[in-house]
Amino acid sequence: MLTLVIAALTVTTVGVASPASAATASTSRANSALQSVIPGAWRKAIPDARATRLISGKSSTSAYRQGIWVSRFHAAKPARLLRHTMAHEFGHHIAFFYGSQAIYGAAPTGFPQGVTSVETWADCVAAALSGVDKHGTNVRKHCSRAGLRWTKAWLKKGPAAHPRTDAAIHW
Ligand SMILES: [Zn+2]
Repeated sequence: MLTLVIAALTVTTVGVASPASAATASTSRANSALQSVIPGAWRKAIPDARATRLISGKSSTSAYRQGIWVSRFHAAKPARLLRHTMAHEFGHHIAFFYGSQAIYGAAPTGFPQGVTSVETWADCVAAALSGVDKHGTNVRKHCSRAGLRWTKAWLKKGPAAHPRTDAAIHW
């Protein structure tokens, strides 16, 4: 059995005060958010890209074939912010299966902000699908207007319009 070295891709968000009626963190709440923010065709194309465990700390993490590890911090956030987090992490999974594979988590070929801008790609997916203008602290290069426009158009075509590339993974 092939063993992959798993590198983690992370989004960290801080600084938003919790509301008085903070939600209880759970993977089911995270997956409800995922279901509401990710188009069905994309969810069907990458069924393992879902919340598989809750972790401590303020960072949620995605890894190839390991699902989304959602921080309790994110999982208790108001729905619109949790949707943003889940869309960001789902963006990493899109990259695992449809990315250029230039590096681990690389954006699809043609992404205007550079395919090796791994976090910028996820930032654009999060903005495109959730409509929330927010950036994790590890997103050094934010999604640009051009990046957002390109990502929206790329996503709208649906998974069937794009080649799956994970067979070419070499990292
Ligand atoms: Zn990320």
